[in-house]
Amino acid sequence: MKCFNHNTEDAVGICKACNKAVCMSCVTDTGYGLACCEECASEAKDVDAIIKKNKLLLGIGSDKKFMPTGLIMFFFFGILFTGFGLYLNLIKGRTDFFILLMGIGFLTIGGIGWYRNRKINLSC
Ligand SMILES: [Zn+2]
Ligand SMILES: [Zn+2]
Repeated sequence: MKCFNHNTEDAVGICKACNKAVCMSCVTDTGYGLACCEECASEAKDVDAIIKKNKLLLGIGSDKKFMPTGLIMFFFFGILFTGFGLYLNLIKGRTDFFILLMGIGFLTIGGIGWYRNRKINLSC
């Protein structure tokens, strides 16, 4: 394969951003791939940043999985409502089924969410 800009020179690689073949005199090594020009180098850098962010977001390549914020909220409200429901029941002798049901509902949905997240291995 020949260079896109110099058709007599042999290509040494492919630009990561625009996929054009580049020769030794027009290649830029960005450290995470080859680029043909400054614009492509910054484009490749942006794409690289997106990939890194996505890896973090999806918990790829890490053993420590953070519990998603949405799930934390479900468990928080679940514990809050269940606790308050039990408090009313045990301390005040008043049974409020609505509050207890809310608590159990939140905990159940949180549990389902947790199970699904573990299954697809996501941390968001
Ligand atoms: Zn390029
Ligand atoms: Zn060239």
